[in-house]
Amino acid sequence: MLNNLVLVLNCGSSSLKFSILDPKNSKKYLFGLVDRLYLSNSYIIWFENKIKKKILIGDYISHIKSLKFIIKIIINNKNNLISKIKYIGHRVVHGGEKFIKPIIINDIVIKEIKKNSIFAPLHNPINLLGIDAAIKYFPKLRKNNVAVFDTSFYHNIPEFAYLYAIPYKFYKKYRIRRYGAHGISHYYISKRTSKILNIKLNNLNVITCHLGGGSSISAIRNGICVDTSMGLTPLEGLVMGTRSGDIDPSIIFFMHNILGKDINEIQKILINQSGILGLTNGITSDFRDIEKTYYSNIESYRAVNVFCYRLSKYISAYTSTLNGKLDAIIFTGGIGENSALVRELTLSKLKLIGVEINNILNYQKHSQDYFFINKNNTIPILVISTDEELVIAKETKKLFL
Ligand code: ADP
Repeated sequence: MLNNLVLVLNCGSSSLKFSILDPKNSKKYLFGLVDRLYLSNSYIIWFENKIKKKILIGDYISHIKSLKFIIKIIINNKNNLISKIKYIGHRVVHGGEKFIKPIIINDIVIKEIKKNSIFAPLHNPINLLGIDAAIKYFPKLRKNNVAVFDTSFYHNIPEFAYLYAIPYKFYKKYRIRRYGAHGISHYYISKRTSKILNIKLNNLNVITCHLGGGSSISAIRNGICVDTSMGLTPLEGLVMGTRSGDIDPSIIFFMHNILGKDINEIQKILINQSGILGLTNGITSDFRDIEKTYYSNIESYRAVNVFCYRLSKYISAYTSTLNGKLDAIIFTGGIGENSALVRELTLSKLKLIGVEINNILNYQKHSQDYFFINKNNTIPILVISTDEELVIAKETKKLFL
């Protein structure tokens, strides 16, 4: 039975997750993550036979170095798991309009993912590093690599939500439109909510907030995503670790015309130097750092407030997409699952739409993979641990049935 395992590589912007699992019973034999990439004290944490291990691996560790650590852990595994891996699933952020379903990776697919890097410059190249590593270190499984795309979940978004109000030819000719990202996580969360609330997926209306290094929010009506905050690229929408999210496009003209910055510099500012990092004056992009000092440090206070205000605005706006029925609001991702402060500050602004947070539940430690934090008889607010790896493993295996 233990011979059809899937290795999943989920190369995110600020962390790199991996998992060896059996999609049939969801059992994870080895899983973990490299965290604090490109920050001080990068570390790797992993679980093997339910035993937790953690090692510090240095400062400012890159994705390539992290992948090497992960491969070492897999190869050195005492249960010889490596011989049981049959498939490798990869999270790929941007599939463009072409990839609306998972696909077995060949050279043409790799080329197309590379091409889509213009729409996800912070992600697709990193996803490709994972694919390269898998091909290099597991050559026998060359034909068993699968790409599962974040953008697939959004291919049903209506035209009025995916079009930008710029000359239509930019869509027609260059496919400039909203694509979204984080779809794998939003999909998992909506399915999980449907089970928890015992509402059929095709009847479920929810707003899902994935808050991590990158953050996004989706409106899901009758189980189908009808709007999401990330756009042509994962730069639009909520405030993120180093990404600005929404800005007035005129800021770009100002930076260029008045400040003399060239377009590459501006891109770098908006993608790598903004968000939490920008709002804290370059001190940190890591939410844990600012959460601890919210009440004592002005930089932290400012950053958290902008983050939560933007999020609450989006939640209110998305209620208008749900035809008058909101079954739940869900928080997930590193911040969404762990920051009671973010949940409190965000939800306390939403009384008008019937949201009432129970802060005892919100601040309590919970051991399950989900918990409610709303007051009785108000809109259910759920915190759910996301599991992108499980979705990727299931979708990967499906292609070989
Ligand atoms: P990625 O987008 O790279 O997948 P994650 O979902 O792992 O990111 O989330 C990373 C973010 O979550 C970081 O900003 C990190 O500081 C934040 N985070 C992780 N644990 C906590 C915690 N206990 N409290 C607050 N924030 C946390």
